[in-house]
Amino acid sequence: MLEKVLIANRGEIALRILRACKELGIKTVAVHSTADRELMHLGLADETVCIGPAPANLSYLNIPAIISAAELTGATAIHPGYGFLAENADFAEQVEKSGFAFIGPKAETIRLMGDKVSAKDAMKLANVPTVPGSDGPLPEDEETALRIGREVGYPVIIKAAGGGGGRGMRVVHKEEDLIEAAKQTRAEAAAWFSNPMVYLEKYLTNPRHVEVQVISDGQGQAIHLGDRDCSLQRRHQKVLEEAPAPFIDEQARKDVFAACVKACIDIGYRGAGTFEFLYENGRFYFIEMNTRVQVEHPVSEMVTGIDIVKEMLSIAAGNKLSYTQDDVVITGHALECRINAEDPKTFVPSPGLVKHFHAPGGNGVRVDSHLYSGYKVPSNYDSLIGKLITWGATRDEAMARMRNALDEIVVDGIKTNIPLHRDLTRDEGFCEGGVNIHYLEHKLAADKH
Ligand code: ADP
Repeated sequence: MLEKVLIANRGEIALRILRACKELGIKTVAVHSTADRELMHLGLADETVCIGPAPANLSYLNIPAIISAAELTGATAIHPGYGFLAENADFAEQVEKSGFAFIGPKAETIRLMGDKVSAKDAMKLANVPTVPGSDGPLPEDEETALRIGREVGYPVIIKAAGGGGGRGMRVVHKEEDLIEAAKQTRAEAAAWFSNPMVYLEKYLTNPRHVEVQVISDGQGQAIHLGDRDCSLQRRHQKVLEEAPAPFIDEQARKDVFAACVKACIDIGYRGAGTFEFLYENGRFYFIEMNTRVQVEHPVSEMVTGIDIVKEMLSIAAGNKLSYTQDDVVITGHALECRINAEDPKTFVPSPGLVKHFHAPGGNGVRVDSHLYSGYKVPSNYDSLIGKLITWGATRDEAMARMRNALDEIVVDGIKTNIPLHRDLTRDEGFCEGGVNIHYLEHKLAADKH
């Protein structure tokens, strides 16, 4: 096993990783910015190192500072969590070149999947179904671009090859808008992702977002841990997730699981990863792969009983997968509500002092959060302050437990989106299951009127 892991992240995921390390008897180094001295996991870590001031580019994105902290403390491996440097191939490369294990895929895999055009190409090669569109980048030549648009059929979506976080996408409904939309998306892509390349895809009008969790050891073995439905989104950001995805065609599901596992083996994937798909009319369409642990990984853990983070640590230590596909049995249903420090109606961030925090409990309830009474949520980072996860033998039971948990939880002093979750878990359409990616925004718009 690994000896000492540096956790290059903050908040709930840093605590999540620390807990897994402690379970395995691995020593931990927690790094933090000057704005984060009060983070819960710092008190639980074996060592802590301040890596810079509050702005993330000077601390959590500061590669030399993080590598120095690892050298200083004698860490043997680095876990990047999600966000920040988790999908930065240069970081993964420098970590390994400096002699540490990177708890994630090889830099070349991150690079391949970080470019959505090359990721799609790799998936096509592995026979994973993708969204029809431009094969490769959308050419700047206007006539060729228009021809591709016509062949794919409107509406289409133009997406930045280097995009992420729901940014750098533009839907085009008619041919006359294509060229201008491509220009604008290219300019945004250049500014935000330092890569002007864009590509074109058929815009699916009413899809669901269904993703497949995989773990692969990079030594020829890969398994899937089933699927998750993350269709409840606002501005392409996930709000509430569940596993398994309700009402999926069983044959399509079987085929997509097999394709994902095979793709992992084909590309020599190492670690935990997620294949993201749109699902419409009984078919899966690959959109991207995330080469890291995801915010919503706990719902897969709850229905499989497999600890994804512990398995990541084991694989990074050079071990083979501890499970075969036959060991993976999906039992019951799990839900996850992302709790954000934000106004539940306007979604404006609401950092500040948490005067009182009370975590819910009971059978099948899991709270992944770094909150405690007296903790001050800094304004410098994203607004996720915790995740409420419930498991039940059935979806209805998981939902009833989530309603209870949301009634019990208390976060005083700052605004949170808990009222939105209370509302959603009582929403008729969502409770029925299988809503599409527009459902939440339509609901929010309707509630306004
Ligand atoms: P990001 O990396 O920024 O999250 P994704 O490619 O994963 O970008 O897409 C994010 C979201 O955008 C999807 O979950 C879906 O809601 C929407 N989306 C992306 N591609 C399409 C498409 N071809 N048709 C319809 N919606 C899409």
